[in-house]
Amino acid sequence: MEHITASEVAGFGVGTLLLCATIAAPKVDAFISASQRSSLALCKRCGGLQVIACSRCRGTGLIKANGPFSINLIDNLYQSEEFKVKSVGCTKCQARGHFSCLGCSDSSTS
Ligand SMILES: [Zn+2]
Ligand SMILES: [Zn+2]
Repeated sequence: MEHITASEVAGFGVGTLLLCATIAAPKVDAFISASQRSSLALCKRCGGLQVIACSRCRGTGLIKANGPFSINLIDNLYQSEEFKVKSVGCTKCQARGHFSCLGCSDSSTS
């Protein structure tokens, strides 16, 4: 335990909170948006945009090469190393950042 300092513990706590907030926010937003869109008769999945943002890369098409746990914690501890973190194309969306909405393609072609 001696190698873990108080600041590192605090940094981990903050990083965890940020990570939780990052994960939770889109879900809450999606839930609220879905209820609003259903009342407007728009597509529940995309709200009429016909595309859905990729949840893995959050619409950027890029992810950090060393995984989702590298975010703020690593950046804070190793700021000089940040340039070494490679961004790679998101495999979930083929680096496009979004998917075509299946709900829209079904309804619009019929
Ligand atoms: Zn993606
Ligand atoms: Zn749609």
